[in-house]
Parts: sequence; C-alpha cells; structure tokens
Amino acid sequence: IISQSAKELGQETYVVGGFVRDFLLKRDSKKDIDFVTVGSGIELAEKVHSKITDASKLSVFKRFGTANFKWEGIDLEFVGARRESYAEDSRKPFVEDGSLEDDQKRRDFTINALAISLNEENYGELIDPFDGIGDLERKIIRTPLEPDVTYSDDPLRMMRAIRFAAQLGFEIEENSFQSIQKNASRIDIVSKERVMDEFQKIMMTEKPSTGLKLLDDAGLMQFILPELVALRGVEEVEGQTHKDNFYHTLEVVDNIAPNTENIWLRWAALLHDIGKAPTKRYDKKIGWTFHSHEFVGSKMVFKLFKRLKLPLGHPLKFVQKIVLLSSRPIALVDENVTDAALRRLLFDAGEDFDDLITLCKADITTKNERKQRRFKQNFSL
Ligand code: ATP
Repeated sequence: IISQSAKELGQETYVVGGFVRDFLLKRDSKKDIDFVTVGSGIELAEKVHSKITDASKLSVFKRFGTANFKWEGIDLEFVGARRESYAEDSRKPFVEDGSLEDDQKRRDFTINALAISLNEENYGELIDPFDGIGDLERKIIRTPLEPDVTYSDDPLRMMRAIRFAAQLGFEIEENSFQSIQKNASRIDIVSKERVMDEFQKIMMTEKPSTGLKLLDDAGLMQFILPELVALRGVEEVEGQTHKDNFYHTLEVVDNIAPNTENIWLRWAALLHDIGKAPTKRYDKKIGWTFHSHEFVGSKMVFKLFKRLKLPLGHPLKFVQKIVLLSSRPIALVDENVTDAALRRLLFDAGEDFDDLITLCKADITTKNERKQRRFKQNFSL
C-alpha cells in the first residue's frame, strides 16, 4: 500500500532507521517503522491512511513535517527527506527539503542510517552510503559525519551512542568516544526528560553497569549524577580502607537486574548508597563509618528526582523508602544483632517488603560469603 501510494504521488520512498537496523540484526523489538519520502511526508501519510480501513486516527505535525498513525499495534511514521543545520546553543535544527542521502546524513549513527527502497525499480534494495552494514557486522557505533559535528549538533546523541552500545553489545568507535569525552559538558543543553529517557533505557539493559561505566568514562555521568561519581575512590587512614562505593553500586545494580524489571527498584539499587559520600568519616575507635547515610541518602533522592524531572509521586516515595530501609536487613545478618525487635522494624516496608529483600540480596556482595549465608538463613531464600 505504501509503495503504491508513493508511486501515485511520484515520491521515492524508503523504510529507514531503527526498523531496518533491528531487522538486519534479527532483533524483533521494534514497535515503530519510519518511512522517509523525497517530497511531503504528510501527503504520503494521508494517502496511505485513506487506503487502510482499520488504522488509528492520523496525527499530523505540520511544524515538523511528519505524520503518523497506528496500524495493528505498529506505529507508522512518515517524514519528508530533509537536510539539517544547527545553531551553536540549541539542538533544534534548521530544516530544508533534501535528498535521501541528505536525510541519511542527518541521522545519528551509520547503523541507524540504513534505508530499504520501496520503489518499483529497486524494491527491497538496501541503500547504505556509510557502510552501516559493515558496522553492524563489526558491532561498531560510528557516526555518518565527523563525530564532533554529530555530537556537538545534538548532544543527546552522546547518550544514544552509549545506550545503543549497551543495548546491542556494540563498541563505540574510538574517534567517536573521544569526541563524546570532548563534548560531554554540552549535555546540559538537552532537556532533562530526553536525557532521562536514554538513561532509563540504559538502566533497563541486561547488565546496566556496561552503560553506566561508559557514561562515567565518557565524563557524562558527572553532569547527570554527580552524587554517584562522588562515591568513587577509596581512602586510607591508619591502614584502614573502605570499599569503593561507586563500583560496589554498579555491582548491586547488575545483581538486581536479573531479578526485577521494575525500573524504580533498579533506581533504588543505583541510589541505595548515595548518602555515603557526604556522611563518610573516619572514627579512631570504629574505623570508617557512614553513620545515618540512609537518612541523608533518602533526602538526596528527593532533590535528585526533582532536578532530573523524574516522577515525584509513587516512584519517588518508593525509591526513598527502599533507600531508607536498605541497610536494615543487612544489619540483621550481623551476628551481634539478633534482636527480634530489629526484625520487627522491617514491617514498615509494608507492601514493599519483597522489593526490599530483593535489593538486600543484591547488596550482599558475592565476596562476603558468611554474611550471605546468614542472610539466606534469615530470609529463607
Ligand atoms: P529505539 O526504538 O530502540 O529507540 P530507534 O533507532 O528507532 O531505536 P528512535 O528514537 O525511534 O530510535 O529514532 C528513529 C530513527 O531516527 C533512528 O534510527 C535514527 O535514524 C533517527 N534519530 C533519532 N534520534 C536522532 C537524533 N537525536 N539524531 C539523529 N538521528 C536520530
């Protein structure tokens, strides 16, 4: 139908972007398909829409020259091929009509710039001017233009590079990664919502530490979550050290990932020790201590959610509660604390009890076998 409609309008039309990438990778996660047409995307969408009887309402975005509708649960998006240029302080491009190649050039990565023809004369042909296919095979994230241009034009692409690397198990090409490191501070011109969209996708990968480490190595983490970066490092006083709470946190997030698809429980894992940097002190009698870090941490969670424009309703309350209670079950594992009263304290977890235990299970690191054994006994795991 799309091919036919494009032919009637005399417009070259292609499938482009994520659908082609995932199709070639045999990943079937795509719920949306992007079509690019040399001409009006809106007119093509209107024509296609008029020929399908069971489609959802057509949404038209005149300002962006795009239109989309849903059909059989799939979102079909139409856009006219365009050329883009950017101003220094904004990620909103100046847009002109362009050719297919102009449109492929404006895309973020070579693997996202692949197009498949829907035109009669070369139907099904793959159009790949930047060797996206080679990059899919080599598992590489590379930009079609000079990386500095791509990332500085739209700094959100730095987050996207890391997100795709984490999701697909790809490597970011060296030049690209250096350019991200160079442009990291420009992430500040991107709206918090967009940054968080990508961040949450990283958090939902199988092994979140991969993406989180990349964010840190790229220098982006310090702009997004400086509180987490502050956990890094080990200090030594009188021969006594404490664990590196940054790497410990990454380990906990990885440990919890196979046990929950609840993004907020993953957030709680990420933030459970966040109060440790400001509460850290060395006490001559007991050594390193982070006394009351849970209280401080749960207050920090509030500020952090506000700053990052994360939802302030139940997700915030939930994360604060888990952070606040996160050390209690671990305290129970300590041989000196067998008091039943402490056990009762866990009742204020209420309906979140299971989630709290899931976090604590992830928090007891594999290194501490004795603690782990007692924890399993106490909570019959
Ligand atoms: P996913 O659905 O997993 O997020 P996707 O590649 O479809 O992957 P979308 O955000 O839906 O991601 O974007 C669709 C396509 O639009 C991309 O494949 C890419 O070609 C292009 N694109 C999206 N965002 C950008 C951007 N910030 N800069 C350049 N091109 C982009």
